[in-house]
Amino acid sequence: EENQPPYTGKICCIGAGYVGGPTMAMVALKTGLTVTVVDLNKQRIDAWNSDRLPIYEPGLEEVVKQTRGKNLFFSTDVEAAVRDAAIIFVSVNTPTKEYGFGKGRAADLTYWEGAARSISKATVPGSALFQGFKIVVEKSTVPVSTADAMTCVLQENCPAGVHFQVLSNPEFLAEGTAIADLTQPDRVLIGGSMSKEGIMAIEALASVYAHWVPRERIVKSNVWSAELSKLVANAFLAQRISSVNALSELCEATGADIDHVASAIGSDPGIGPKFLKCGPGFGGSCFQKDILNLVYLCQSAGLTDVAEYWLQVIRMNDHQKRRFGKLIVDTMFNTINDKKIAVLGFAFKADTGDTRESPAIDICGTMLNENAKVTVFDPEVTEDQVLQFRDLDYRRIFDTMCKPAFIFDGRNILDHDQLQSIGFRIQGLGKPKTL
Ligand code: NAD
Repeated sequence: EENQPPYTGKICCIGAGYVGGPTMAMVALKTGLTVTVVDLNKQRIDAWNSDRLPIYEPGLEEVVKQTRGKNLFFSTDVEAAVRDAAIIFVSVNTPTKEYGFGKGRAADLTYWEGAARSISKATVPGSALFQGFKIVVEKSTVPVSTADAMTCVLQENCPAGVHFQVLSNPEFLAEGTAIADLTQPDRVLIGGSMSKEGIMAIEALASVYAHWVPRERIVKSNVWSAELSKLVANAFLAQRISSVNALSELCEATGADIDHVASAIGSDPGIGPKFLKCGPGFGGSCFQKDILNLVYLCQSAGLTDVAEYWLQVIRMNDHQKRRFGKLIVDTMFNTINDKKIAVLGFAFKADTGDTRESPAIDICGTMLNENAKVTVFDPEVTEDQVLQFRDLDYRRIFDTMCKPAFIFDGRNILDHDQLQSIGFRIQGLGKPKTL
């Protein structure tokens, strides 16, 4: 089927968020195809059409500048864009429900179903089709078998004779490196039905990516494997963070240094050096949500022990967030009442303005509960510039501070020896206790 001609029609994407925006900007840049990104949120669309994009990602502005108004469009007219495109990506938010039914917390598919219903509504006689059908691509992270639910909603609400092929094409980009990840993805995963039409749909989508992604990196599978792979990829990354964070506490208790341990174990090829830095806990909109999603799937299948195993990754993360807050209070003589504390960085990690589920929220919460006076500074949240906290004039800062002057380095990015020589009392996570 790889001999089928490449897809040359229009592309639509429902959802102009952290995934939809950058992903579609890259598709527009690399394929030259006409791409329209739609969203119900007018403010967000206005921002995409302005000089101040709604999200910060290194390199994103350049890609948008090269394509917007030429073959990349942002619009609130969902119906028109869906009608004109035979490939429709769905990249809406899929949060976790706030409550559970005794089986853990499931994914909230409200927005997802809303998108499905608007696709069927906009699919009228005369709509753009590919080989007689429309291709709907799950870009959002969804529970396994959501493609079946999507097919059901689409099929039962559209004009007679029209049909759909639903593909799973989960997005593996990480915020902060989205443009680099999209330019050279480790893999592009496309799951679909193994019927003749399903394979044609998979090949049509593969031909879009093949404009810039080497064919051997375009991996094809059945739809359930693709859906599950995304959840598992995030669960593994989060599990690794929780493992390192669990060790950071042990390092502090024993006098070992987490960075020494990480480089010692990371040279084993079975472990590898990446993702071995400890921190104040993972954040962002995905890790916790996707693990909860996985846990819910396990529980629904009656796999209680497997569900417990993954839940522990989240429990460890909650522990690390609480622990960092407590470390600050304990170290400052067990009272931070009325003390002025500056928080450098509020986003959930470097190079992003995204503060969703940031551990900083919990840590600031702890400090505020203890009546500290907290001032937060984060360059990405307010302005599009990257400022390295490493390069601040710490000598001058030290001179202005109340003594003893404390620094708590939740990411171990500062030069601890140098700061100690200035006179600071500094404690990093996973570092031998110095205070
Ligand atoms: P987001 O909240 O930034 O964007 C989603 C957008 O969809 C919102 O702007 C919302 O207004 C819009 N929307 C919701 N329902 C709609 C509808 N019916 N019609 C039109 N627009 C609608 O979310 P995001 O961070 O871009 O994530 C999207 C999906 O991708 C999620 O499933 C997420 O799990 C997954 N994902 C996210 C990341 C990440 O790093 N953020 C990475 C990989 C995968």
